[in-house]
Amino acid sequence: MKLIIASNNKHKIKEIKEMLGAKFDEIVSQREAGIDHETVEDGVTFMENARKKAREIAEISGFAALADDSGITAHALGDRPGIYSARFAGRHGDDEANNDLLLASLSDKEDKGAHYTCAMVLVYPDGTAVEAEGYMYGRIIDERRGSRGFGYDPIFVPDGESRTVAEMTDEEKNAISHRAKALSLLLSRL
Ligand code: IMP
Repeated sequence: MKLIIASNNKHKIKEIKEMLGAKFDEIVSQREAGIDHETVEDGVTFMENARKKAREIAEISGFAALADDSGITAHALGDRPGIYSARFAGRHGDDEANNDLLLASLSDKEDKGAHYTCAMVLVYPDGTAVEAEGYMYGRIIDERRGSRGFGYDPIFVPDGESRTVAEMTDEEKNAISHRAKALSLLLSRL
């Protein structure tokens, strides 16, 4: 069976291809499949958004589709940035501004605890869905360290670690990340 990944993020695509390669005859990104479609992410949870993305791509393509939605939640800020992680500071995908705003929002807070969430949904051509969620807990530090990864990785230190995620290799991150955990749980449910 052919699987389309409802994303064009090359970090995610590489990780998904590696982990699900044995389960599908062919795995391609949305771009490789020639699908030019952007889902309106108007859900109120990570899972709702992931479900909507996967469903739309499965319907458009007629193939199985896998989508994820992810973000970071700072415990002292309620659910924020949460589902708004990519556009926390206003402009979608502006990692620098998003990190600045999160650091500023937490500067007077004692609780620096935070966690990443990843919701992952696979929808088959007949509409059947398999879902899983993964988390990575840790804390926000008050400076940036490291140049790997993306998003909030330079200011996030996972529990049990002294380095930020941006100071880890891809392999190290993939061993503990919210996305890897969601993927392996999903894999166990296929
Ligand atoms: P999306 O799931 O591609 O919509 O990503 C949402 C946003 O959450 C990203 O733009 C990042 O700001 C943040 N995010 C999600 N996963 C990670 C991660 O593994 N590292 C750093 N930031 C992440």
